[in-house]
Amino acid sequence: MPSSLVIQTSFLGDTVLTTPLLVQLARRGAVDVVTTPAAAGLLANHPAVREVIVYDKRGADRGLGGMMAMARRLRAARYEVAFLAQGSWRSATLALLARIPSRVGFATSAGRWLYTKRATYPAEMHHAARLLMLARPNGREPLPDELRPTLFPGDAERIEVSALLASHGVAAGERLIAFAPGSVWATKRWPYFEELASLLAADGRLVIVGGADDSELAAGIVAAQPAAVNATGRLSLLASAELIARASVLVTNDSAPLHLASATGTPTLAVFGPTVPAFGFGPLAPRAVVAGSETLACRPCDKHGPQRCPLVHFRCMKELVPAGIAEQVRSLLLPPDATS
Ligand code: SF4
Repeated sequence: MPSSLVIQTSFLGDTVLTTPLLVQLARRGAVDVVTTPAAAGLLANHPAVREVIVYDKRGADRGLGGMMAMARRLRAARYEVAFLAQGSWRSATLALLARIPSRVGFATSAGRWLYTKRATYPAEMHHAARLLMLARPNGREPLPDELRPTLFPGDAERIEVSALLASHGVAAGERLIAFAPGSVWATKRWPYFEELASLLAADGRLVIVGGADDSELAAGIVAAQPAAVNATGRLSLLASAELIARASVLVTNDSAPLHLASATGTPTLAVFGPTVPAFGFGPLAPRAVVAGSETLACRPCDKHGPQRCPLVHFRCMKELVPAGIAEQVRSLLLPPDATS
């Protein structure tokens, strides 16, 4: 059976969106994945993955020495093909130094000169579909079911989440409404989660997911609604997915938790400010609503979202008022047939 290596050292959400590609490749043979220390845990228990190889490109494995050591490790595994899901020159050089004979990536990527096969970058597709198409250039476009990311929280994550909820007195079966207020990019943070918390407090128990960097945002929400459960910085990524899976709805910015909810199938209200789903990173959960200004001429203004609004007014987010978002969240809390 041929063995494949997938190199994905980009953002956390990209790792989640690589899972449909991994599932596709696993039908052909063993699949190993090179990824970052932060993202590695996401792929734990994944049945499509034989081994997760941690490449700490900014830490323990940094520099040429770290790359050479990683290349030697990969060379020993004798992979037949590498899929460059992350397109940097560094990833391409790593695959070359690992002497992987077939190296597949996008024709638009920085590392393309080192690829043996350059696939067209299908800009119009969802990013999960773009990555999956690396495994079948010229093949048919993926069906919605093939596109859904997959994650596999295990017993450890279930226990972790149950303990956290129990410590806050959350009763079994209590309806959970998850908030993910953070983002690395400041303009991608919708500024009204605190107000939304007050509007939705009677609709379910609020739980706030995110990393330790989001704890200040979470503290503001807890100040507005003291019964809210602050899980920021307290759960692994896979346990965060488990918590989102237990929620009846997730309200999120255009950030990694959106993709966790796509994997868990949690109904999703995704708030997009300076970015748009057409970039390829919209929600894939079966029930999802995107909130974003459709008429603002300055939008989108940046691939990722700038740290400050270049026009200062920040209307792309400020015009998305909490009452409107609360109404959309409540529509997702209704059974699907009640909204049709
Ligand atoms: S320029 Fe427009 S899209 Fe960009 S951050 Fe400002 S309001 Fe939002």
